[in-house]
Amino acid sequence: MVSGQAIAAIGMTEPGAGSDLKALRTTARRVHDEAGEGYVINGSKIFISNGQNADLLVLAAKTDSAAGAKGVSLFLVDTTTPGFSRGANLEKVGQHAGDTSELFFNDMRVPADALLGGVEGQGFVQMMRELPRERLIIGVQGVNGAKGALDVTLQYVQERQAFGQPIAQFQNTRFTLAQVATDIAAAEAFLNACVQAYLRGELSPEAASALKLHASELFSRVADECLQLFGGYGYMTEYPISRFWTDARVLRIYGGTSEIMKELVARSLLGR
Ligand SMILES: Cc1cc2nc3c(=O)[nH]c(=O)nc-3n(C[C@H](O)[C@H](O)[C@H](O)COP(=O)(O)OP(=O)(O)OC[C@H]3O[C@@H](n4cnc5c(N)ncnc54)[C@H](O)[C@@H]3O)c2cc1C
Repeated sequence: MVSGQAIAAIGMTEPGAGSDLKALRTTARRVHDEAGEGYVINGSKIFISNGQNADLLVLAAKTDSAAGAKGVSLFLVDTTTPGFSRGANLEKVGQHAGDTSELFFNDMRVPADALLGGVEGQGFVQMMRELPRERLIIGVQGVNGAKGALDVTLQYVQERQAFGQPIAQFQNTRFTLAQVATDIAAAEAFLNACVQAYLRGELSPEAASALKLHASELFSRVADECLQLFGGYGYMTEYPISRFWTDARVLRIYGGTSEIMKELVARSLLGR
């Protein structure tokens, strides 16, 4: 993966299981046949980043359908395995540089050692352990996306003229940019504190959720306010600010929605 020879994807979400991940219905049935010990996997996934290109899929499936979250296991799947197929590359409103797909598993047989960690029922714990890192990465995307949106806007407002002067001279423009820059600086301080906590092995799930919530909401708001300063040009795909605007939107959804982040923070405050 590091050398670029293998591209990976993580398959958690299903048509009937997004925020409520434990409702997933893809099953992995343990079998012992002429090929030895293994699992037969049936089901489907949706919205999987890298789905079209993935060589390796980390797949969440139920090894015990009656056990709720404790029945979920993760499998390392080679995507050349018979029974695996990819749906269309889904058409998104933004993030066109990345592919997002449905995936299907039809009697897909994997060897027993495809079970990540070697013990069934650990999948939920494994995902919960790693999700703070994914949320930290989305925090990085959010803060730096907002900085990028501000950068292209700073340049534009000094060039665009209206009423005989650059639009940078209007108090509304100056106040908007000052507020955006201030909000970004505060978010970046929070991000840096989370990165340092992560490096010490001390990033709490609730801090990662709060960062993901704050940085993704910030990026959407900043992209929207900056786009406004471009007037009609901001709505044209020719201008990069329109891409910041469409790309920002999904940060509030993937990696856990803003509402789920609020639930996680509230749970840490209230104890349930
Ligand atoms: C571009 C993109 C890439 C993605 N990449 C991946 C990937 O690589 N791997 C993967 O597994 N998944 C991926 N996802 C899926 C993503 O994580 C889910 O879309 C997300 O978790 C939300 O699930 P859902 O779409 O089923 O929405 P739902 O869970 O149906 O939510 C619908 C609405 O209800 C709200 N809601 C749900 N439960 C609650 C609650 N308890 N309290 C309050 N509000 C609630 C949500 O916040 C949301 O507003 C991707 C999605 C997109 C769009």
